[in-house]
Parts: sequence; structure tokens; C-alpha cells
Amino acid sequence: MAEYKYSTLAVHAGQYPDPQTGAVNVPVYLSSTFELTGIGTDKGWDYSRAGNPTRDRLEEALAVLEGGSSAHAFGSGMAALTALMAPLHAGDHLICSHNVYGGTARLLDEVICHFGIEVEYVDLANLDAVAAALKPNTKLVHVETPTNPLMQLTDIAAVAELAHKAGAEVSVDNTFLSPVLQSPLALGADIVMHSTTKFLNGHSDGLGGVLVGTKPEHRDRYILMQKALGGILSPFECFLVLRGIKTLPLRMKQHDENGRAVAAFLSAHPKVQKIFYPGLASHPQHELAARQQKGFGSMMTLELDSKDAVGRFLSALKIFLNAESLGGVESLASHSATTTHAGMTEERRQAIGITPELVRLSVGIEDKEDLIADLAQALEAV
Ligand SMILES: *Cc1c(COP(=O)(O)O)cnc(C)c1O
Repeated sequence: MAEYKYSTLAVHAGQYPDPQTGAVNVPVYLSSTFELTGIGTDKGWDYSRAGNPTRDRLEEALAVLEGGSSAHAFGSGMAALTALMAPLHAGDHLICSHNVYGGTARLLDEVICHFGIEVEYVDLANLDAVAAALKPNTKLVHVETPTNPLMQLTDIAAVAELAHKAGAEVSVDNTFLSPVLQSPLALGADIVMHSTTKFLNGHSDGLGGVLVGTKPEHRDRYILMQKALGGILSPFECFLVLRGIKTLPLRMKQHDENGRAVAAFLSAHPKVQKIFYPGLASHPQHELAARQQKGFGSMMTLELDSKDAVGRFLSALKIFLNAESLGGVESLASHSATTTHAGMTEERRQAIGITPELVRLSVGIEDKEDLIADLAQALEAV
């Protein structure tokens, strides 16, 4: 498979005809258990928590798309993050991007810290701060780039070099760009994590998560986490992600094109105080984005002049839906402070710059002229 180009891999990796029937699509194996062939022998599967033929195909596809050696599907992005953190032991030190998805911070601050794991938030854009934070017991550096919702970048290759010197692994939450627009493993990361709920599924009709590893011990570790923690993805939702990734390169192309057009429009609009989009030359890390990413994607955040203005803007939008989540074909707008980051304390939100005036956009694949017209009329209402 490795000889094929990306769009071909998206359609065919893991998605070959069913050997038994010739079905072009991967069958959905709705079976919790499998008949054994003898004592301790089977046809490859025994119980669906440990493995399911539909899930195997999805995991095969995702390992290829991220360029890893194994992939492991979980019931949500949070279940994947739980499986990423759970192998840490009491006394281990974990470094996390200071500006992460609210659910990641909630998992670390309200669950993982109780297991005696030392959690430290560091501004990973500041490489001196990363070097200073790494300790002999640092086991994992968890990177989210670009961050949600402020679109701050981390130089994956530079952080990986520092972490590896200190004996720590690097995991990257690649949800915002998808494997089409960013390849963390090629940049030196050890593990990639996704909420497949977003671009990989792409149609806002199922939650899911994945961890992609690069070493034989990752395979053993995350298979154990699937079996021991049990947060696996159902066969039907595996099918939905398999279906979604066939059009991933096509969708990302349109998301990227629409994202650039919408960001250019918003950056010139007098009612928009600020716009956070790495594709704009005005973004402080534009050069890093251009070097590290294969596109700028369709996630961006704008700042209006008050929370009331945000309220009027969200209610005036007609095509953009006021809803959480991202990465689907439809355009969404959401108020970060009361949705994705509601789980964070007010102080933490203020400290990292998530103010009540921010609106995050997930630009869909609709016609970009319609999207810009919708934003223009909603900004008139502000
Ligand atoms: C949505 C999201 C998650 C969590 O994924 P779920 O599928 O909602 O559990 C984690 N990281 C990022 C960047 C996300 O956008």
C-alpha cells in the first residue's frame, strides 16, 4: 500500500473487498463473541472488546493514514486520551500543552492527578520552558497543535527532540488538522491521537477516538488498554469512520480552501477585533504553520467587542449552526467559554486567553460565497 498516494490510500487502505463475499465495503460485524475452533484456538477473534473484524479494518486504515505501525480505536476522543494517560504510573511526570481542549484538562485535573501522576501545564511554544520542565521522571509530553480555540502552534519536531533527549515520549492531538494536513509522526512524535468524531468521521454522526503508535510496545500497551479499560469503538461507528475517511482528502481540500477564504474576509471586517488563523500572514506563527502543516485547515476563532455582540452574532447566523464540535461537512460556530471550555475555571480561561468575546468557527464544505455572505449579514446584526 505504501507506494500509493494519499487519496488512493484513503479509499483503499484497510478497505479491500470482503474475502468471503466480495462486498466492496467492509462488513459491519455486529457480534460480541466468535465461535472458537478448539481449546484456545480461534479464527482471529474471540470477543469484540479485544478485537472485532470491522474495527481491525479501521485500525489498519488509520495506521496507514498517519504513517504509524498500529492504530487502536476507542469509543470517543476522551476514551482515547484516557487510554493514552492510563499507562502512566504514580510518580511519573506528564507535561501537557497549557492551552488544550477543555476535556483534556478536565481528565488530567479531575481524574489522572488523583493517581499520583504529576501533571504540569507548559507553554510548549516556548522551547526554553519545555527544556526547563523536562525531568528524569517525565514520561510523556502531550501536544495539541494548533490549540483549541486560540490556534497556537507547537513546533512538533523541536519538542520531540527535547523530549527524546530527556527520555520522554511525545503524543500529538492531531484532531484539528486531520492526517491530511499534518503528519506528527513524520515530524518525530511517537503517538498520534484523534477525536475521530471530528474530521475523520466528518459527518457529525458518531463519536470516536484513536491512538496511533510507532513501536511494538505501543501495540501491546494500547491493546491492553482496549481490553482492560474497555472503552472501544462499536463496529457500526467503525464503519461510519471507514466511510468518512474515503472522502477525507477531498473534504480537507475544500475545508482548507473555505477556511482561507473565510479568514481573509473576517480579517478585513471592521467588526472583527481579532482573528486567530495560522494561514494569515498576521498570525505570529504563520511561518511555523507553513513549514509544519500541509494546509491551514478550517478552524479559526474571532473576537467581537463584547459577549452580547457574540450572542447577537450567533443568533443571526443562518447557515452556520450555533453548536459545539467541529470537522463535519456543515459549518458551525460556538462560544468557547461556555461550551468546549466550560469545564475550565474562569481563572484558567483568563490565564490562557479564552475570553467571553471569542467565537470559534468550524468552516464546512458548503459554497464559500454563501458562507461569507452569512457571516457578513450576521456581523451587520452585531
Ligand atoms: C473533540 C475533541 C476531543 C475529545 O473528543 P470526543 O470525541 O468529543 O471525546 C479531544 N481533543 C480535541 C482537540 C477535540 O476537538
